[in-house]
Amino acid sequence: MPDKERIVFDDIDKYGPQRYERTYQFTTGELARIELAAIGPVSLDANASKGHLPAEYLADGSTLFAADFLCSRCVEPFPFASSSEFHLRFRPRHEVSAENVEIEITPDELDIEFYTERSVSLRDLAAEQVQLAIPMKPLCTESCLGLCPQCGTNRNGEGCSCQTAVSDERWGTLAGIRAELAKKNEQ
Ligand SMILES: [Zn+2]
Ligand SMILES: [Zn+2]
Repeated sequence: MPDKERIVFDDIDKYGPQRYERTYQFTTGELARIELAAIGPVSLDANASKGHLPAEYLADGSTLFAADFLCSRCVEPFPFASSSEFHLRFRPRHEVSAENVEIEITPDELDIEFYTERSVSLRDLAAEQVQLAIPMKPLCTESCLGLCPQCGTNRNGEGCSCQTAVSDERWGTLAGIRAELAKKNEQ
């Protein structure tokens, strides 16, 4: 089987555990995440085998890629290298309602996918893993100063001369808490 683009459950039944090593190229549009400025080839390594339950299959492996993310504060692209592991279980969809009653889902069993088709696209699997690896709010550095809310200058650079102390949210909240506390003390 020279070009294995899919994990085929029947292959596992017939030939035993299967190993897959693929490299995929994605456009940022395909991955549909605005935080993604650019992405290099994604390598996927997976071992697929039978699970413990009837008609259950497992895929364990890892994905590796390098990308440029946009910082959610200063909107500048920054390089990011990701290496992550996955442990997926595939269970037939039609047995969900019948078995759900007995099967207790433990935290390490959260990566369960229910299938209707007896094969899984490795490219889709890679895309899914990349999406999971992109943080909700990527930051170029933890201490990124972001953009000036008044003039839009990147405050990590030279900065600007705007008066930003006018309404800093955090101080506003703190003032609110102080007022609340003062009220309570009066009662
Ligand atoms: Zn930043
Ligand atoms: Zn400014």
